[in-house]
Amino acid sequence: MTTTTLQFVPPCLPTRSAGAGPWSVDAIQALLDLPFMDLLWRAQTVHREHWPAGEVELATLLSVKTGGCPENCGYCPQSAAFDTGVQAQKLMDVAEVTAAAQAAKNAGATRFCMGAAWRAPKDRDIEKMSALIAAVKGLGLQTCATLGMLQPHQAGALKDAGLDYYNHNLDTAPEYYQDVVSTRQYQDRLDTLAHVRAAGIKVCAGGIIGMGEAPVHRAGLIAQLANLDPYPESVPINSLVRVPGTPMADSDPVDPLDFVRVIAVARITMPRARVRLSAGRQQLGEAVQALCFLAGANSIFYGDKLLVTGNPEAQDDARLLARLGLSARPSASASPA
Ligand code: SF4
Repeated sequence: MTTTTLQFVPPCLPTRSAGAGPWSVDAIQALLDLPFMDLLWRAQTVHREHWPAGEVELATLLSVKTGGCPENCGYCPQSAAFDTGVQAQKLMDVAEVTAAAQAAKNAGATRFCMGAAWRAPKDRDIEKMSALIAAVKGLGLQTCATLGMLQPHQAGALKDAGLDYYNHNLDTAPEYYQDVVSTRQYQDRLDTLAHVRAAGIKVCAGGIIGMGEAPVHRAGLIAQLANLDPYPESVPINSLVRVPGTPMADSDPVDPLDFVRVIAVARITMPRARVRLSAGRQQLGEAVQALCFLAGANSIFYGDKLLVTGNPEAQDDARLLARLGLSARPSASASPA
């Protein structure tokens, strides 16, 4: 299998128009700095040029192997390095995962994501995950997995099992990365994304806002994502959930309007990506979530738990979408307009 190596994006690339990379960090920073209403107007305009208005994808995330991770991501309660009360559990079996996927489908989910807290799965883990992926695929759901760093042959095996998407977040800008995690390098993330892309699996990659990063790091994160060639099909934007016991438990809360700005800039720079409102929705509240939809978010995680942190109840989400005149859109037919 051929693989491509992705590199850091120099911060001095020329600026191009919406959605047409490469994007310089400066150009993205200029978007982030626009007057709020101008930014939202631009983002909503781009959104309507590329997506049907009023549709939101519902995705469900299940932790199929929880805790005990040897990495030290400063935001993560599943790291074995932090005392967060999360109990390590072994990989779930096919029957358990199939039942959870069926329940998610019955509740309206169209994509089922499986997360395992590994640094990098072993080949025997990939075999077990392949069985889970095939079972979920058999229910007619789109499949997504987030398993840590992959080798090219492992990405190929997951593709053969029926994996549609692989999630591997860049988290933040390269310049801030070592403040977030010290057990791996930014280039490790880019390498895995390249292996996933080369295997023919769609890419889901995003980041986290509120980890103490400077505004330029937010611009740097979006530049990295938008300048991937092609850019990810899914871009989850998370608001840090400050979990007690993690090094980031006492981070300053993110300004909700700054979070909306990041969503808007993701939409403008990656017009055909599913921009997903991910962790931290509970803390954002409904009015800010509505602004995020206006800014171009068109996917949410659905269900009461995201791996190990809380998420709004499914019926609360259904009520909010109804109040906003938004409707759930099956992923399988949710190709960009
Ligand atoms: S974010 Fe993933 S890799 Fe990092 S500690 Fe948590 S489970 Fe491990």
